[in-house]
Amino acid sequence: MDELAKELAALEARSLRRRLKVVDEVLPGGKVRVAGQVLLNLSSNDYLGLALDPRIIEAAQAAAARWGAGAGASRLVVGHLALHEAVEAKLAEFKGTEAAVIFPTGYMANLGTISALVGPGDVIFSDRLNHASIYDGIKLSGAALQRFPHRDLNRLEQLLREAGAARRRLIVTDSVFSVDGDLAPLQDLVALKARYGAWLMVDEAHATGVLGAKGGGLAEALGLTREVDIHMGTFSKALGSQGGFVAGDRRLVDYLHNRARSFIYSTALAPPVLGAIDQALEIVVQEPERRLVLGRESQEFRRSLLAAGLDILGSQTQIVPVLVGENDRTLKFAARLMDQGLTAVALRPPTVPPGRARVRFSLSAAHAQADLSRAREVIVATARAMGLGS
Ligand SMILES: *Cc1c(COP(=O)(O)O)cnc(C)c1O
Repeated sequence: MDELAKELAALEARSLRRRLKVVDEVLPGGKVRVAGQVLLNLSSNDYLGLALDPRIIEAAQAAAARWGAGAGASRLVVGHLALHEAVEAKLAEFKGTEAAVIFPTGYMANLGTISALVGPGDVIFSDRLNHASIYDGIKLSGAALQRFPHRDLNRLEQLLREAGAARRRLIVTDSVFSVDGDLAPLQDLVALKARYGAWLMVDEAHATGVLGAKGGGLAEALGLTREVDIHMGTFSKALGSQGGFVAGDRRLVDYLHNRARSFIYSTALAPPVLGAIDQALEIVVQEPERRLVLGRESQEFRRSLLAAGLDILGSQTQIVPVLVGENDRTLKFAARLMDQGLTAVALRPPTVPPGRARVRFSLSAAHAQADLSRAREVIVATARAMGLGS
């Protein structure tokens, strides 16, 4: 234990030590109470404000009353309730695919899917800024990893050419990148995957519910649903509850039932969560105004930060980073914002490259316009006081 304490102290010295913060209350309007202070929560992934939606809470309660608090077994044993079957059918329809499979979390969906689809002798091409769960899936798979610089299509094409006769080739990308808030060049990735006979897997964690007319994600928004082989997403962000998924061809889903270990060896998602997902899928399709409000507010937020000369790293979405650079300065920026009632995450290595630490803001349709307008002013003034921007 002394050894562990020493490592923690070393992290502390580099401003890299992380600590849990207790949220005492979750409040409407995208706010939280922490240590007696009410904060505007600009760190949440509840992009559409559905986590507190009374219809979803009621659906979760009803599902628990009917099916129980837990599924009682893994899916292939006796945990596959009619509720799972129905929600997966609804999910496939939502995504515009033949079939879909739900995992306990998005993390487990990436881990299980990547390690099931490729292995030794195969090659994975992964954008440098892809989510950690993708990298953990790659490690677990034993396939060779070719990491390409963020959104660098020329480098990707070169790597695809060099991979030659690998048994299977898998290109994997986030659609909305969680650290920069920018978009994958999906149209070009589709062209490359077709040219080089690779599979394309797209992680729509931050885009599900947010992009596309129905909220299906970036592939839907660009009309590329059929071109993407493996659609991955999560219910834990804009859909307001929990659980990951993969959607695509029926054969893909049948294969994952047989080979994805994080699906096979974990208890089926609990009924109340399934009830919440079921209701969230209805709301997301039927209430596009939530997406429109979020899109509008995000654009205004980005515009003000850019106008103040801040570096928002090409963000085009509801995720808006402000590049600071050094770890300690980033922590100080986040702390000063907190003193003024705003909570945002200080992202430091290893989540981002060394020297590229940033404060990341994420917006929600739950935020009131007046709160966001004040937040923009506070952020710009605080950044200016710290010598950031112009
Ligand atoms: C959050 C996230 C995940 C993991 O999803 P969980 O449901 O929270 O486990 C996977 N990929 C990306 C890009 C994410 O942002």
